[in-house]
Amino acid sequence: MSGPKRICSGVYVVGGPKLSHSYDCCVYLVDAGGELVLVDAGAGLGVERIEENMRRLGFDAGPSTLIATHCHIDHVGGMAALKERHNCLVIAHLQDRAGIEGDDPGLTAAGMYGLEYTPVMVDTLLMGEEEVLRLGDMDFHFLHTPGHTPGSISVWIDCDDGRVLFGQDIHGPFSPRWGSDMDDWRRSMEKLLTLDADILCEGHFGIYRGGDVRSYIESYLKRYGKA
Ligand SMILES: [Zn+2]
Ligand SMILES: [Zn+2]
Repeated sequence: MSGPKRICSGVYVVGGPKLSHSYDCCVYLVDAGGELVLVDAGAGLGVERIEENMRRLGFDAGPSTLIATHCHIDHVGGMAALKERHNCLVIAHLQDRAGIEGDDPGLTAAGMYGLEYTPVMVDTLLMGEEEVLRLGDMDFHFLHTPGHTPGSISVWIDCDDGRVLFGQDIHGPFSPRWGSDMDDWRRSMEKLLTLDADILCEGHFGIYRGGDVRSYIESYLKRYGKA
């Protein structure tokens, strides 16, 4: 296992296959002044290591807010335990609520991992195309980017080092079982390109910077056929 790392001003990676558990997506921490915001929480088996990684960076308090980018277990499986321990606020999109809250466990893809999903209740349901929430001393922009799942969201912030985009699973994969939609997905990718982000924090392949952000998104648009 390697250690947690600073990505840029106020943004850290604290979880992932090499940082917390092999099933975990990349888990990002934003230090937004008084608020510690986690973008996704891994599959559940790496929760203690995520907490330990936060402490190693000097954050003893635990997260105060959890952003669920979508309903797959490798992203939201750890949220129930974190919410119970730290009384976190959970933010997710309405269209992935049924998976996250356990009404339709098949949507979490838990079977693929041979895990049982522990549901978590969502406190703030996003419903619009784009919503801005002030967390701590930062504006978090929530973009509805359906495609991988109907309720997939991408999050962006402007920090001292530029625009940071959290685009978890923007590469797919796609399955009718989760309600993937390729037309929606292409439109979502075009939306992300217009952001001109300086840094992309991706869900399974890590960090992209500068021109690589655009190339990464465009390479997937090319692979799945530009509409
Ligand atoms: Zn996913
Ligand atoms: Zn994933």
